[in-house]
Amino acid sequence: MMQGQGVPRGLWVKCDACGAILYHKESSSNLHVCPRCDHHFRMTATQRLNSLFDDAKYRRLFRKIRSGDPLEFRDTKAYADRIKVYRKKVGDEDAVIVAEGMLGGIHSIVAAMEYGFMGGSMGSAVGEKLALGAERCLDRKIPLVVVSVSGGARMQEGVLSLMQMAKVSAALARLRERRIPFISVLTDPTTGGVTASFAMLGDLNIAEPGALIGFAGPRVIEQTIRQTLPEGFQRSEFLLEHGMLDLVVHRHELKETLVRCLGYFKQK
Ligand SMILES: [Zn+2]
Repeated sequence: MMQGQGVPRGLWVKCDACGAILYHKESSSNLHVCPRCDHHFRMTATQRLNSLFDDAKYRRLFRKIRSGDPLEFRDTKAYADRIKVYRKKVGDEDAVIVAEGMLGGIHSIVAAMEYGFMGGSMGSAVGEKLALGAERCLDRKIPLVVVSVSGGARMQEGVLSLMQMAKVSAALARLRERRIPFISVLTDPTTGGVTASFAMLGDLNIAEPGALIGFAGPRVIEQTIRQTLPEGFQRSEFLLEHGMLDLVVHRHELKETLVRCLGYFKQK
């Protein structure tokens, strides 16, 4: 799914699904969907927000929130150093951008996760920003949309990372009590603790086509249950067919679908 593998960065993009070499502009002007085979490339958080908010205008919230390093975790590299490298590379504080603006004329908060930042992993900064986003929706009585792309919890923060699942879920439960809409958009890939918490808690859970969605990966499941998994297992279409999702929506229709659904909730 990576863009630009084996080809010079920037100008050309290779589609991993059909192998077509695309001019970068050809792909970006098509919302990063392959014009030949409809494969949905991964978007950055900024690209996602630009594609959803009216006129690509929005205000970023909670920008100063950063993860700490309470465990002083070190694997091949210290976590504190690792995170600095990602901040520089991605140009953002952590793996989610929470923003406020107009979505088809509806005042909303949209949070977009960033896979380029440690695989979109959920540490305490990601959890805190999402929970604060939900609280702001509660205060202002405006809807929340979260676009997930994540490998799951951030192991470098240990149990603090797992706690975020409960914290965000609790904030979403308060939205539900007050009947404020929350729509979850699942994109490729959405796995681990993110799937096991907020990504599946939407009033509507909408996925992009062909997205890998699951808790554990297929290899781990096959080893555990000692059975071969069916074709397309853990892909959006399979999950829709088995009642785990409400809709699978092409990226070209995503904004329109969100606006229509939010409009419908508003009338209720
Ligand atoms: Zn393609």
